[in-house]
Amino acid sequence: MIRLWNTLPAHVRQEKHYTDFLNHMHQKYKIHEYIHIDLFNYDTEIDNIYMKMRYHCSKLNVDQFKLHFVQDSKCTQCHKNKQETLHHYFMDCSKYDQQRRISKQNLSKLHVTFQNLTNRQLVQLISGFKDNNIDNSVYKNAYQYIKLYIVTTGRFI
Ligand SMILES: [Zn+2]
Repeated sequence: MIRLWNTLPAHVRQEKHYTDFLNHMHQKYKIHEYIHIDLFNYDTEIDNIYMKMRYHCSKLNVDQFKLHFVQDSKCTQCHKNKQETLHHYFMDCSKYDQQRRISKQNLSKLHVTFQNLTNRQLVQLISGFKDNNIDNSVYKNAYQYIKLYIVTTGRFI
């Protein structure tokens, strides 16, 4: 359980009770699916999803298509005839506008250089690029927010 708390942003961790925490997540992000995630496995599960995306072998349709698991690489979440790439999932897909706005707000609080990131720079950050002038703890927190985005979009449940 301690590991779980450590994976979450401070404002979420401040909830004293498990049910309050769940309700908080539920109300704030309006993600019903979140309640069904096994929280004891949250860390490893989301880490796996995130790493698979970085290595282009995820459940995103563009990766599934390359692996011949699906017939079409288009996004079925927004129906805008776009390829469901890592870039589309994190930057474009209209289904996740709310979660994206919250993630950008959270990231911008971590470091001054995160305040006006271009989409390209954000994708670089998500893909693991690090600026050596920025402390590693900043990146650790950034990755937690990226994982929170993954959880709250409910895309991989
Ligand atoms: Zn989409």
